[in-house]
Amino acid sequence: MAESGGKQEYYIGVDLGGTKILAGVFSHNLKCAGRAKVSTKAQRGPEAVIERIARCVRDAVDECDLDLKKVKGVGVGAPGPVDPENGHVIVAPNLGWEDAPLKKELEKLLDTPVFVENDCNVCTLGVYECELQSKPKDVVGIFIGTGIGAGLILNGKPYSGFNRSAGEIGHMVVEVGGPKCSCGNRGCFEAVASRQAIFRKIQAAVKDGQKTILTDILGDDILDMRSGDLRKALRKGDKFLEKLIEEAAEYIGIGVANVINLLNPEVVVLGGGIIYALEDDMMAIIVETAKDYALSGTAKGIEIIASKLGDDAGIVGGAVLARRETK
Ligand SMILES: [Zn+2]
Repeated sequence: MAESGGKQEYYIGVDLGGTKILAGVFSHNLKCAGRAKVSTKAQRGPEAVIERIARCVRDAVDECDLDLKKVKGVGVGAPGPVDPENGHVIVAPNLGWEDAPLKKELEKLLDTPVFVENDCNVCTLGVYECELQSKPKDVVGIFIGTGIGAGLILNGKPYSGFNRSAGEIGHMVVEVGGPKCSCGNRGCFEAVASRQAIFRKIQAAVKDGQKTILTDILGDDILDMRSGDLRKALRKGDKFLEKLIEEAAEYIGIGVANVINLLNPEVVVLGGGIIYALEDDMMAIIVETAKDYALSGTAKGIEIIASKLGDDAGIVGGAVLARRETK
């Protein structure tokens, strides 16, 4: 419940994904007062999706008995490069969007200031202010989910690059001639270590007769697998899966080493569904591999940690973005 009366200010964070939209209402000190979720229905086109975002925001506000007038700003993380100046989503392959005027249209519907940033930058911003208390100067967030992306905070500010696509580390090639990626190249980081890549490897092995505890848990239909199922099977001692997850963690470690070699940030934080579900199984291997592959001596003192925000990183980060921009 929201505190009634007083001068409490609220911010809303929105996580716009390919399948679902999440909205969270946060107080000035980032306490969540209410939340809502709706499906994206991307096939209906940008205009309809933006209306659904507005609905999700209204639902979240209603959830905590608040008035939208008490909200100082809305921060949205969008799945693609964004021009933060005009709030246009330049391109979002998951949504089928090109040059969508998200800020302008959402402001029309909500009559509240809206700020838009790339989703990985927004998640990193959430971790930066909520978990790291804005202390380090340079932080890189790496998110391992369906795909892999990174958010960059350089000198305390989100960094998006010349064409606003900085942080697309999912398409860094880590295995020349490796498995095909959704982008058309081969051996991309996300083609070997994302949730989709891990699931694909499991499905192919099972088809070839590999025994795994996953089929005991899920039956023969392992197409409907979740990251949490992997954790359950690992806890039951699935050796095949253990090796496969170890391999993915090594690739992630190599990705972290590449990031350290390029930017030498103070903190590298890992997040996303795979890390959230498998932190205990992966983090030690990730850290060890990263320190092994980074140029000798250059990883000294760099923190490589897992975010505790889980699925909330996007909405917390959106609220942080709105709080920063309305200061
Ligand atoms: Zn790729």
